[in-house]
Amino acid sequence: MDGEGKPARPIPDTPERSRLLGRVRQKKTAPEEVVAKALRRLGLAYRRNVKGLPGSPDFANRTRRFAIFVDGCFWHHHTACRRAGVPKNNRAFWEAKFAANRARDAAAIRALRRLGFKVMVIWECELATVEARLARVLAEKPPQTSGREAAR
Ligand code: ZN
Repeated sequence: MDGEGKPARPIPDTPERSRLLGRVRQKKTAPEEVVAKALRRLGLAYRRNVKGLPGSPDFANRTRRFAIFVDGCFWHHHTACRRAGVPKNNRAFWEAKFAANRARDAAAIRALRRLGFKVMVIWECELATVEARLARVLAEKPPQTSGREAAR
């Protein structure tokens, strides 16, 4: 990470920050659209924002048993990702918020795996390689279900 010149000036925390971040986001295709396109190219049917499954996955197919979350690195606090900084103001507030988001995400993933779903989290910083990853994960063996749930 050397040689990037002087550190970027921190973006002020609120409304200016969200205005700037909002403008950056609009320049690209929304992450969910990148994933939707990749799934279509792979010939996979899906439903979006599936409220009936733990965590309301962004994409899921109950027959093929896959669930996909498309997570923003900032809000879901992608580990060791440069987009997942903690704002300097109200640090304790943000750290608690990120911890709660991550705990909720992890609980949803565990619940889906217990139901026999392959679960994939696609981070916004990884969208460039999403199609190859989707193909790889969907080719894997499904997780073991617990006896009771598998019997349903
Ligand atoms: Zn990230």
